[in-house]
Amino acid sequence: MNFEQFVRSEITQMKPYTPIVPFAVLSQRLGRPSADIIKLDANENPYGASPKAMAALANLPYVHIYPDPEATPLREALSAVTGVPQERLLVGAGADELIDLVFRAVLSPGDGVVDCPPSFGMYPFSTAVNAGRYIPIRRRADFSLDVEAIERVVREQHPKLLVICSPNNPDGSVIDDDSLRRLLALPVLVLLDEAYVDFAEGVNRGGRGERGGKGEEGFAVGHLHWVMEYDNLVVLRTFSKLAGLAGLRVGYGAFPDWLLPHLWKIKQPYNTSVAASAAAVAALDDLAWLREKTLLIVAERERLGNLLAEVDWLRPYPSQANFILCRVDGRDAAQLKHDLEQRGILVRYFNKPGLDNCIRISVGRPSDTDTLLKALREIGG
Ligand SMILES: *Cc1c(COP(=O)(O)O)cnc(C)c1O
Repeated sequence: MNFEQFVRSEITQMKPYTPIVPFAVLSQRLGRPSADIIKLDANENPYGASPKAMAALANLPYVHIYPDPEATPLREALSAVTGVPQERLLVGAGADELIDLVFRAVLSPGDGVVDCPPSFGMYPFSTAVNAGRYIPIRRRADFSLDVEAIERVVREQHPKLLVICSPNNPDGSVIDDDSLRRLLALPVLVLLDEAYVDFAEGVNRGGRGERGGKGEEGFAVGHLHWVMEYDNLVVLRTFSKLAGLAGLRVGYGAFPDWLLPHLWKIKQPYNTSVAASAAAVAALDDLAWLREKTLLIVAERERLGNLLAEVDWLRPYPSQANFILCRVDGRDAAQLKHDLEQRGILVRYFNKPGLDNCIRISVGRPSDTDTLLKALREIGG
């Protein structure tokens, strides 16, 4: 008997996932200590986690006890900084888990999911795992959304989900409020992924925002509070990027009230670890640190963008996130990625529709920018 036929057909049809090379393995391969590698390939915070988060991790009292399934202290802290009622918030093992949770809750086999590529790889991934029907509506050459095409496909194909990433990974463009309101008028559940909104300009920052009067001053509320206004909106955020907790896996989202009871039912009870929750609560107690690092990263993004624009064979795109996508002209981007790697600098390489011959560079510290630019000059000859 061929037992492999027991595997669900949509899963046998999936292409295998290419895992990233673990940092330790790469350090060995390049013959460089990890500390000497400049990691600009995964949009992590170059400053690490806040000192308060690190102190909380060093002093964890209850690792032998299962975590609180409702992650109450973290949801309370999130409610206090965002102004979104705690009842509307759910936390997970990274925003990635919450993407999957929403898909699992709403998709029956064959239900449509509209994605706007090029964008984040987890959307087609979770669509495939949950037996959804993937409906790509490509972004325009400048990475803006084709709102008319999305409206048409929603009317014609009745998908259940529309995923919008803003700022979009991998280019860093944002959706404007008018377009978002147009999409929210459609009969579809909109999943707005704001993993990078902390770095965007003109974003609602708590106390100073147009409507976020209850939020904490300086905290990027983004569109979280729009869930109180729209019944078909989910907004996701993460502690992985700005808060520097990527390794601990913790993200959160704001959800419509009709969806929440069902998400609570299907959520793994212990999805957020004791360590992840404690570090996230402590990070939210260190907003001044987060704000300071945000400003450093945003300032560095502007400097890096200007310097990259001076390299004749690179075409950087404007970005509202903590990374910059570059088109590589007249040379092979894969070779460029390799040449940088040999010098201990890691960047992300893409070669697919809309992203042919591109690299994406995460914003690091000023010294990382300097090292990168020196390497680019050497490679450029
Ligand atoms: C990094 C990233 C996430 C998720 O991160 P988690 O580490 O799972 O919280 C979600 N969306 C986008 C667009 C990302 O780039």
